[in-house]
Amino acid sequence: MYTTRSLSRTSQILQRTSLHFTRTLSSSSPMSPSKVPRLSDGSTLLIPGPITMSAGVVSALGEQSVSHTSAAFASVFRDALGKLRRVFRADGTRGAPVVLSGSGTLGFDVLGGNLVRRESDKVLLLSTGFFSDELHDALAQCYTARPGAQVTRLAAKRAGDTVPLAAVEEALSRDSYSLIAMTQVDTSTGVLLDVEGVAEIVHRVSPDTLIAVDTVCALGCEELRFDEWGIDFAFSASQKAVGAPPGLCLAMLSERAVERAAELAESGESQGGYYASLARWLPVLRAFESGGAAYFATPPVQLVAALDTALGEILDYSYGDYPRGIEARVAKHRDTSDAVKRHCTEALGLKLVSGQLDNSAHGLTAVYVPQPGETIKRMHEEGYTIAGGIHKDIKGEYVRIGHMGVSACDDEMGHITGCLGAFDAAV
Ligand SMILES: *Cc1c(COP(=O)(O)O)cnc(C)c1O
Repeated sequence: MYTTRSLSRTSQILQRTSLHFTRTLSSSSPMSPSKVPRLSDGSTLLIPGPITMSAGVVSALGEQSVSHTSAAFASVFRDALGKLRRVFRADGTRGAPVVLSGSGTLGFDVLGGNLVRRESDKVLLLSTGFFSDELHDALAQCYTARPGAQVTRLAAKRAGDTVPLAAVEEALSRDSYSLIAMTQVDTSTGVLLDVEGVAEIVHRVSPDTLIAVDTVCALGCEELRFDEWGIDFAFSASQKAVGAPPGLCLAMLSERAVERAAELAESGESQGGYYASLARWLPVLRAFESGGAAYFATPPVQLVAALDTALGEILDYSYGDYPRGIEARVAKHRDTSDAVKRHCTEALGLKLVSGQLDNSAHGLTAVYVPQPGETIKRMHEEGYTIAGGIHKDIKGEYVRIGHMGVSACDDEMGHITGCLGAFDAAV
């Protein structure tokens, strides 16, 4: 717990002028729907990220800057890193949580730059859509472009399909890979990959292969057990189901990944660049995690405060009989998602891009509609901002409705019932 006693006089003054940094420490109060700020055009934002933020998160953002090495900031950053571990379900003290200025895409560079040997590593990449292909391109163009290294892409047959586990097992048995990379939820298709199933195969068939997962559209809304499933590197972003503003890349490394990054940096086999180098960041983050402060590059103090508030709201969340926190949060996202998808398929007779429920993500619904452009326009007129399709093969055929964070978890806000009401008329 935070006390002012241990702080220097300067920090005390800083702390007083920065109300937020004390406010985040008291547990977040339940927000009233009317206090959640709307978009300037009055519409409710229901795209698959960025998402509508809670009132608490919005107010955390609006505070005065504090010194990035002050005790007040150090305390907030320490709390945020600890909460991030819990949301990733990496509950121990091993490995390392990472928070960097940047968006989710920075995770591509952190992965490629720190965990891939540029001359020799073979990477197996599972593709379930647009975002997996972006990760493929990042690795292929920047981190495995030299002879000896390569990325092998194992893709779903059609847009909306997943990669079958049998194909993963076959690929891992046929060749040896130092890394396997995948996207838990490909936000372009709303397909949910069975990461637990893939991880089980990797541990059995190819135990030395590091497991990396894009959890940008999964952290905070999907079942994700970093320690239990034996994931080595998971990266995410602040603006999706975490419920903070855009601007932060969030990640979690296993102990094995920390060691691999250090080994490759030392031997000069990785190409971490300068800013995205874990060798530079990990000592700084370790200092913050243990309550101190250190400097490599200035952390965005307001975004970290907003992240701390957003993660705190996830860990405080209660729903039904589920254990309070991330488990309750994931269960509520699942129920909201199932309700939206049933409404689309049963009441409206529409078809999901991902085919059936057990293949489908829980933070968004990607659904075929007869006239996507017209539907989006009508939804906007009714006060709801939803998104269009982005998968190249089916781009003009579907829409995407985001249901993450407070929109999915706080029924009193009425976002989902209101959106579905408008959707009935707009399709
Ligand atoms: C949004 C998203 C990204 C990209 O994140 P940015 O924050 O826009 O850089 C990557 N992967 C997935 C699965 C996403 O949903």
